[in-house]
Amino acid sequence: MGTAALTHCIFCDIIKGAAEVSVCYEDTESIAFMDIQPVNAGHVLVVPRQHVESFLDLPKRLGTHLFDVAMQLAPAIRKVSGAEGMNVIVSSGAAAGQDVYHFHIHLIPRRQGDGFDVRLPFAESDMPDRTILDMMAARIIGALRDPTRSQGTPREAAAVP
Ligand code: 5GP
Ligand code: ZN
Repeated sequence: MGTAALTHCIFCDIIKGAAEVSVCYEDTESIAFMDIQPVNAGHVLVVPRQHVESFLDLPKRLGTHLFDVAMQLAPAIRKVSGAEGMNVIVSSGAAAGQDVYHFHIHLIPRRQGDGFDVRLPFAESDMPDRTILDMMAARIIGALRDPTRSQGTPREAAAVP
């Protein structure tokens, strides 16, 4: 059973009209509204009307539509906020920092020195040997061909020679 079945969903409340929200876009499948605690002014969340927990649960056609909406909104947000850059972020699962288990795309206008940090490459990561990168690529290619094949944890995956 998914998290959403057990817990109350604030985004479903918003979609039903049962919670206060500042909407900047809507259509039959999606809604976009201002994040209640924005990183910077103009921080928008693009959300499906259907309750889908995370990126991995998202039907492909709906995902394509949501990214299309995000691409329409991004230039308007940049213009209105005067942003110098933009982060487009999806956090999927608790380990990735997802707090609201109703899928959403963050559109975060950015300015130099605004203090928000999603810096890559990750300073604590080494650069693995090319053979390791090739091996992971080959495993992903294998999983794409045969999605039923069992997968290890990220730690196990990193340890495989
Ligand atoms: P996550 O960590 O799940 O990717 O981010 C959830 C986002 O939802 C956060 O940026 C948070 O500020 C925003 N949020 C949480 N509750 C509400 C709410 O009731 N209304 C709105 N507009 N945004 C919310
Ligand atoms: Zn929901």
